[in-house]
Amino acid sequence: MIIILRTIRYIYKQDLIINSMTTNNKEDRKKWDKKYRENNGDSIKESQKKYQDSDSGKKIIKKWRDDNRGKIRKSSKEYDLKNPDKAKKRFKKYYNTDKGTVNMLRKHDKRRLGIKKSKLTLEIIQTINKRDKVCVYCGKDFNDDIEHDHINPFKPFSRYNIVRACSECNKDKSRADMIQWMNFKKYGISQKLLDLYKKAYK
Ligand SMILES: [Zn+2]
Repeated sequence: MIIILRTIRYIYKQDLIINSMTTNNKEDRKKWDKKYRENNGDSIKESQKKYQDSDSGKKIIKKWRDDNRGKIRKSSKEYDLKNPDKAKKRFKKYYNTDKGTVNMLRKHDKRRLGIKKSKLTLEIIQTINKRDKVCVYCGKDFNDDIEHDHINPFKPFSRYNIVRACSECNKDKSRADMIQWMNFKKYGISQKLLDLYKKAYK
């Protein structure tokens, strides 16, 4: 019994010592921490990465993310507002992945046409990426300005209602009828595009 009491008292004392150390020297500790981080940046990063890649680390990070969704969204929004160039770059990088393209275009249709169940799939995007190597309208090579256009602007993206166009054509065509607009621009219409048009307007 006495031993237990002594142990408790010992722990309590230790706690007090540690507490007083940390509260009294908060500024010193901060400085020390900063210095430690500066001197050991690489090894800290390495051990963080190791932890993040481990199964238990992944689980905990996922739980934390799920629990703090609102907070994360808010702080990333704030970060993007403070760093618009970085945000733009990151958006572009994401948009350029097939998965990013699908998600962005689905969102676009949802906003514009109120489409809840999009027919757009990853497979469709991959197919048109291989098919439309140049702007389908003007025929020019893309110059870091690839955009996706609805052939029929009043219907959502689908297998037959999506093409890759340069941003200039996309803007210019807008909601016009494809054939009328292409004739006006004096662009030749290929049979393939005409077939798509027919299906898009069905
Ligand atoms: Zn074009």
